[in-house]
Amino acid sequence: MSNETSIAQRLETIQTAIQAALDRSGRKAGEVELVAVSKTHPPESVTEALQAGQTLFGESRVQEARAKIPLVPGRARWHFIGHLQRNKIRQALPLFELLHGVDCIETARDIQRIAAEESQRPAILLEVKLAEESQKFGFAPDALISQIEELLALDRLTIEGLMCIPPPQPKSEDSRPYFVRLRELRDRLQNEFRIGLPHLSMGMSSDFAVAIEEGATLVRVGTAIFGDRSGKTWRPTGPGGEE
Ligand SMILES: *Cc1c(COP(=O)(O)O)cnc(C)c1O
Repeated sequence: MSNETSIAQRLETIQTAIQAALDRSGRKAGEVELVAVSKTHPPESVTEALQAGQTLFGESRVQEARAKIPLVPGRARWHFIGHLQRNKIRQALPLFELLHGVDCIETARDIQRIAAEESQRPAILLEVKLAEESQKFGFAPDALISQIEELLALDRLTIEGLMCIPPPQPKSEDSRPYFVRLRELRDRLQNEFRIGLPHLSMGMSSDFAVAIEEGATLVRVGTAIFGDRSGKTWRPTGPGGEE
């Protein structure tokens, strides 16, 4: 991606595309929030986005986020979007306002236990595996239906909705069937179990507009805002540096 385009300009382009997708699908402004995925990018880039008006950021590694968050002005809000390793839960809880990728019952039980110990009440999304062959993490739809009552009984957790990461597709349109299936699963759970699952976290740089047309409320966009990540990692420098 060209360096001649600033983060602020890219954010504006994306907000325009978000609004266009909302208009096309008869949805209202404000029904989708952009999660700017800052993994591998330095805190300076996050601060630049913050100054351009973006307040919500997504990270997918707890150690990286733990080092980065204190280096960004405090009005930034953070979501955890990655696979949450069970031994990182305690560190993650105070950092993030929403955990997108809770992907199995064991992790949910661990979050419940640790949240009770830490007097936390985390908000979570359940990750759904929509392509059995190619995806490692997530609840299979049938497993989610059979485990939802146990999940709902974990009283420290607020389950706010579902999340998916479909396999990469050549065309954005090819992601649509996955987004439809996530929405239909959400609707089925809401109806059968009489619960509210307001959030659908789906759509990334290449397909967020299609996801919005299918009901996304949170889109997770990295590359289209911060540029290419290939070969990049960010680590804090100097004393206190870790990982
Ligand atoms: C990295 C990441 C994204 C952002 O992907 P882009 O294609 O760079 O927009 C979204 N969701 C998850 C879970 C990610 O790990």
